[in-house]
Amino acid sequence: MEPKQVSLEMRDYVISMGAETLNWCMQCGLCTNLCPWRLVPGERSEHFNIRHMQRLGQMGLEGFEAEEILFSCTTCGMCQANCPRGVEIVSNVRGMRASIVGAGMAPAALRPILGSAHANGNPWSGPREQRTAWQEGLDVPQFGPDTEYFLFVCCHSCYDPRSTKVAKSLVKLLKAAGVSFGVIGAEESCCGESVRKVGDEELFQKLAAANVELFNRKGVKKIITTSPHCLWTFSNEYKELGGEWEVIHYTRLLSDLVRDGKLAFQPNAGKKIAYHDPCYLGRHSDCYEAPRDLLAAASGEAPRELSRSQQLSLCCGGGGGGIWSEVPKGERFGELRIEDAVAGAAQVLATACPYCLNMLIDACKSLERQDQLEILELSEILAAALK
Ligand code: SF4
Ligand code: SF4
Repeated sequence: MEPKQVSLEMRDYVISMGAETLNWCMQCGLCTNLCPWRLVPGERSEHFNIRHMQRLGQMGLEGFEAEEILFSCTTCGMCQANCPRGVEIVSNVRGMRASIVGAGMAPAALRPILGSAHANGNPWSGPREQRTAWQEGLDVPQFGPDTEYFLFVCCHSCYDPRSTKVAKSLVKLLKAAGVSFGVIGAEESCCGESVRKVGDEELFQKLAAANVELFNRKGVKKIITTSPHCLWTFSNEYKELGGEWEVIHYTRLLSDLVRDGKLAFQPNAGKKIAYHDPCYLGRHSDCYEAPRDLLAAASGEAPRELSRSQQLSLCCGGGGGGIWSEVPKGERFGELRIEDAVAGAAQVLATACPYCLNMLIDACKSLERQDQLEILELSEILAAALK
């Protein structure tokens, strides 16, 4: 075996880019055992070992930068939630990626994504002026000085035709509940959550600075997010950049409105619905009850629990840049999730995240389970059940 190159400068750079807890790791290996890559076969699974990757980083050794290793972590947080030393594993992964992407060596598959976020303010190659195309015919209010909530629609739900249904449904629900809300529109930029997670720190800072300036100039005080990824980054990463807002995911807000009698549904006990906890809503943001309460209110019965749920929920594979990654059939986490739902005799698999929606739909198609299982975003179920 070739001797590895040691570079303490590299280790120090990785730490300076976010991997501040890298040296806390005592190499127990629990993270590797809990990682969803242990649940699937294939080359990535064989190569990806988060304990080992962090060891290489700690010692400043070459070897963590191979694309199929470094960019395979979906930042699901399962390892981090259980690490006995409280190591912030996701930030360590981000720091290691920043050392590669910052040097201009982003994986080929990510280059057009990052290029679009840079040029258009979104990673989906959508022209900036088309950011509001989903609003056509909906009479969506503009955010103004007297508006209570700024509705920030995830780029995915602005541009992806299937995902725009999330934004449209939510507008219907907020109007029905009489919420004072509005959008800003084409000037908005991607929140940058996934951009930062794939290691493009410079681009994240640019996107975040543009949003902070825009939101503060417009007088934003409270934000509703459609996506748990936007929720997480606005809540956890924008404060130190000047973004001091109250941020809420739509499920929490709607659940409060139902509790307060301001939003009601016509329960339609039809299909058996199971709920998939998105990593960024559940493990990363500790929101488990609101989506379940809403599903119960809209369907008349509590949703079915998947075999791995709440804190133990299995990642769809879309976080940390996974949504842009080509993973071979048979190795996709989403496929395991589809099998969980089918095994639980669910007819609908509901989730509350545009990335999960995308990944689960793809997995359902690749397994040819569309006749047995329908994938829906919670907002769609709620809008259909409005009184
Ligand atoms: S679980 Fe924590 S301490 Fe154990 S190897 Fe992983 S990061 Fe290190
Ligand atoms: S965050 Fe998830 S995918 Fe990444 S190493 Fe931890 S358990 Fe594995």
